[in-house]
Amino acid sequence: MTYTVAKVIVDVPSRETDRPFDYLIPESMSHWIEVGSRVGVPFGRRTVQGFVVSLHTESEMDPKRMKAIQELLDLTPPLPQDLVELAYWMSGKYACSKIAVLQAMIPTALKGRAEVMVSVAETAASEAETVKAESGVNARQALLSLLSGEEREIMDYVASAGQTTLEHLSKRYPERAAEIKGLIGRGLLTESQMIKDKIRKKTVKTVTAAVTGEASVAALASFSTQARRQKEVLQFLVEAGITLSLQEVLSELRVTAGTVNKLAEKGYVVIEDREVFRDPYAGRKFKGTEALERTPEQEQVYHKVSEALDAREYGVFLLHGVTGSGKTEVYLQTIERCIAQDRQAIVLVPEISLTPQMVERFKGRFGGKVAVMHSRLSTGERYDEWRKIREGRVQVAIGARSAIFAPFSELGLIVIDEEHETSYKQEETPKYHARDVAVRRARQHGAAVILGSATPSLESYYAARSQSDDLFAPLLLEMKQRPSGSRLPEVRVVDMREELKDGNRSMFSRALHAGIASRLEKGEQTVLFLNRRGHSTFVMCRTCGYVAGCPECDISLTYHQKSNNLRCHYCGYAAPAPAVCPECGSEHIRYFGTGTQRVEAELAKLFPGIRVIRMDVDTTTEKGSHERLLQTFREKKGDVLLGTQMVAKGLDFPDVTLVGVIAADTALNFPDFRSAEKTFQLLTQVAGRAGRHQLPGEVFIQTYMPEHYSIVHASGHDYASYVREELKHRRTLHYPPYSRLILVTMSHEKLPLLLRMAENFAGDLRLKAQRLGWFGSLDRLSAEALDILGPVASPIPRIKNRYRFQCMVKYRGDLDAVALVKEMAEAMLGQLKDASLQISIDVDPQMLM
Ligand code: ADP
Ligand code: ZN
Ligand code: ZN
Repeated sequence: MTYTVAKVIVDVPSRETDRPFDYLIPESMSHWIEVGSRVGVPFGRRTVQGFVVSLHTESEMDPKRMKAIQELLDLTPPLPQDLVELAYWMSGKYACSKIAVLQAMIPTALKGRAEVMVSVAETAASEAETVKAESGVNARQALLSLLSGEEREIMDYVASAGQTTLEHLSKRYPERAAEIKGLIGRGLLTESQMIKDKIRKKTVKTVTAAVTGEASVAALASFSTQARRQKEVLQFLVEAGITLSLQEVLSELRVTAGTVNKLAEKGYVVIEDREVFRDPYAGRKFKGTEALERTPEQEQVYHKVSEALDAREYGVFLLHGVTGSGKTEVYLQTIERCIAQDRQAIVLVPEISLTPQMVERFKGRFGGKVAVMHSRLSTGERYDEWRKIREGRVQVAIGARSAIFAPFSELGLIVIDEEHETSYKQEETPKYHARDVAVRRARQHGAAVILGSATPSLESYYAARSQSDDLFAPLLLEMKQRPSGSRLPEVRVVDMREELKDGNRSMFSRALHAGIASRLEKGEQTVLFLNRRGHSTFVMCRTCGYVAGCPECDISLTYHQKSNNLRCHYCGYAAPAPAVCPECGSEHIRYFGTGTQRVEAELAKLFPGIRVIRMDVDTTTEKGSHERLLQTFREKKGDVLLGTQMVAKGLDFPDVTLVGVIAADTALNFPDFRSAEKTFQLLTQVAGRAGRHQLPGEVFIQTYMPEHYSIVHASGHDYASYVREELKHRRTLHYPPYSRLILVTMSHEKLPLLLRMAENFAGDLRLKAQRLGWFGSLDRLSAEALDILGPVASPIPRIKNRYRFQCMVKYRGDLDAVALVKEMAEAMLGQLKDASLQISIDVDPQMLM
């Protein structure tokens, strides 16, 4: 069937354009346009990028009024059909526009923008034909003879280039803007818009011998002595018998490109452009690893997942395995099975630059079958890794959150490691959670999902236990032992209040101090961890208490050591760090770091000569710095690895026998209902870093709240007891998993107007929900209930000079609260003529502050 009409979602960010528009498919494109194709289409007076979401043979629109697709941007659609379907689903689930989701699914390199292109007009060409027919002279010359010298030169240039950008043309002929305009005005040159990608495929020049066997012998014999260099090159290429990069040949034989070009002119060699992939791991060797013999616990998990894989059935497995229980080995082996079925696998890790060891293990097992989607890769490198997936050159994609959109065609398995991590939720639009998207994609493909964690999120754990949700009811699988036979480390909680009472004012308890000293003596290693979240390096005056804040946003400025300036994390405002307090003139103004520097200084004082490797925002800004620091530690060029939560993840060092948590409770005081959960997870993760191999491990947790259940149970490695207690709290307060949340944040420059709008919003929503029979307190025993809290000022009440208010919608049961909230928000936005009010909707928010 030949389709003539395509429905296209256009890249125009407004509420009115969040629907498909009909476009005619030009005859020349009809074989190429597919669902998921990226196209350039006229929209108003502009050309914009869009995605084809469906194909038709007719339209309800008047064909005469319908515009045609202007250009097709890729030969292979960047989005397979299932991702287009997924985008529709996500847009409903997360109350965001379809284009926002579609754009999030493709690499940045493909987020093109329109550029003005100039080419010789068809009319000009046909005019030339006429002239040619009449006079019999060369057509172009005939046409050009009608123009002035300057004009002719421009026309000639454009004709030889085929097409060029207006920008380029005006740079080339800076004095002739009038002529260029004149040619366009007279219709001899046409102006059109084209979408230009940010990045292109990379190519290299290659050279191959065009003669072989007898012919090559004859060719080689034909060179004169002056052509000695040419002969050498040809001989080299004939002997190599393969295509080589031109650069390589030139440097190997120390010849010039001219020499090779001459050979090409004689037809002895062929020079071609070949597409190459930028390989971020080029030159790196990965130690190959064989599959290990499965332990009984691993076997039981492997068996369950294999059953789903073999049946090609959708299934979700929650793999609750203690740290070091061999979860990664299970991922590797199930993926191997999946690949053997000619299907592909996606592996999600929380933040890939923090988990170099994960990448190494996957590269070691699967070699070139793995594409790595790394946040610190260049745009070009990311694009190339993505193309390897789209073109079916790899079977495994490993990466952070957005790797869930890896465009595989036959997805068999999705692994989400550390599934409890908040980084799986995207904080910007589209505000999706990769876990939910994974489950949805797996359903589309009949694929299996493994959610792995030593500390599963309450949501996943509860869903597995209650099996109440028939779409997301994971099967719980447990692994409690470590294959190495090593026991979980002994964890001791140190009450810092007691230390103070006994006169110890140091940040190290006596026990931790003694522990570090003994590791130094034995040549073993220590990991020290500071439990701090968020941006915490701020400048404060110790005399008057002044804190340097952003003039536009109600937030303290962050100190950057390298540049010695203060920056706002929200709006980018920057100022030099003051030497004296701007309020009181005191010189006692200093910055309070994440604390890692203070700890480092104290370590140096207490243990002269100690080698500390500090890992925090200051030491890890450069590309590859994480890997470098970790490698240094692995090579035992450091005694202590000191850091924030980034040291807590996935690291595995054989000689680490001591882990110290300096201040366990800092995160407990955060006004977030998940703060206990976060603390428990972090402490469990950190504790898992010790004694993973032969040497037994020891962990000290220093705290001012030793009775808190998250600390008590983390130290006892007791997930079950922790969960029981946590669920009790959540149930009482109707927090997830006993309810769902939608956070609505409204912002405006004028506070009184904003307040009124926010109150109207909450009021209208209440009224509407009541009419639908939903409204009520969640305390009542009904299966369906909805409650609205607020409006209240947001935790950050002002950003970029815009005031912010929020409402929290809490609901339970099978109601489409998201759709209602979205509808209400749109109604509210529709009331204002200008775009001054902004409303952001966060479904299942993870960050409440
Ligand atoms: P996790 O991902 O649960 O933290 P890993 O897969 O990293 O656990 O395994 C922890 C350690 O145990 C690793 O050093 C790994 O090589 C080893 N290991 C895993 N499975 C086995 C096995 N079946 N036999 C022997 N060693 C294993
Ligand atoms: Zn002061
Ligand atoms: Zn600011």
